[in-house]
Amino acid sequence: MVDGKTKVCGLIGNPVEHSISPQIHNTLAKMLGINMIYVPFRVEESLVEEALKGAWALSINGLNVTVPHKSAVIPFLKDVDPLAAKIGAVNTLVRMEDGFKGYNTDMTGLLRAMKSDGINLEGEEVIIIGAGGVARAVAYLCAENGGKRVYMLNRSLEKAQAVAGEVNGNAGREIVVPLALTEYDKIPEKRYLTIQATSVGLYPDTEKAPVEDAAFYSRVKTGYDLIYTPAKTRFMRLCNEAGASAYNGLKMLIYQGVEAFEKWNQTEITEEMALEIYGIQKKNMEK
Ligand code: NDP
Repeated sequence: MVDGKTKVCGLIGNPVEHSISPQIHNTLAKMLGINMIYVPFRVEESLVEEALKGAWALSINGLNVTVPHKSAVIPFLKDVDPLAAKIGAVNTLVRMEDGFKGYNTDMTGLLRAMKSDGINLEGEEVIIIGAGGVARAVAYLCAENGGKRVYMLNRSLEKAQAVAGEVNGNAGREIVVPLALTEYDKIPEKRYLTIQATSVGLYPDTEKAPVEDAAFYSRVKTGYDLIYTPAKTRFMRLCNEAGASAYNGLKMLIYQGVEAFEKWNQTEITEEMALEIYGIQKKNMEK
């Protein structure tokens, strides 16, 4: 029941109509008995500054930020968390005394999702497919969390090279090895945690995978596709056919939300509760 004391949080992006974040946050608020409502706000690219000023003036408690505003909001924040500043993208804004502070819970959420699936980056050699915004952030995450090596495969080699130069410079070690998407035979033959961070295979193009060759999948130990629609991507199916386990990006999405919710409400969501929300959303998406 919305009343005079209801805290308001929301999502800014364009588009926002497809988002399942309202379901995640409103369910969490209900489960925890917290008087909070979460609403989507479509914000045009030219109006990001006005949107943040308006949200501040309206005493909005917190915001998620999605495509295409994850970097565009940064100049209008009072403070930015160090990991988010390195990545150059924020997805969660928390109301402070004198303005909003930005965080990147996409990445801390991915880390927590992987942990929940028994995957640890410490000492790991990882393959990342893609060199876009999310792949770049995942490369930073690997560097920050003890990853030993990252083979970054991308359709445009120059983009992978640029990300490698940036992350290696920042980490002070040669952790990222850039390769063209077709150069996977240059990766030493053993099995790797493989994170699929391209948009290939995303609904409605569900019969596509970024790599088709079985020789590539024989290098996969665990496949982690960041796509969550469809629930089982072609990349995941190819991983399974090669004897590897495979996960989709739904847990990452749930945990980025869980971490944002925790920050807005100074509360802790237990693993059991997070898995309950995950189960509800998984069922909804299978309908
Ligand atoms: P970007 O647009 O920044 O990057 C897209 C990447 O996909 C690039 O590496 C691009 O290669 C590659 N790519 C696109 N089309 C093709 C193709 N036909 N063949 C080979 N490679 C291709 O996207 P983002 O990094 O922002 O997002 C990537 C994916 O991550 C999204 O599709 C989304 O599903 C997922 N995601 C999941 C989240 C979650 O919570 N689970 C959160 C955010 C994103 P090139 O550089 O050569 O163009």
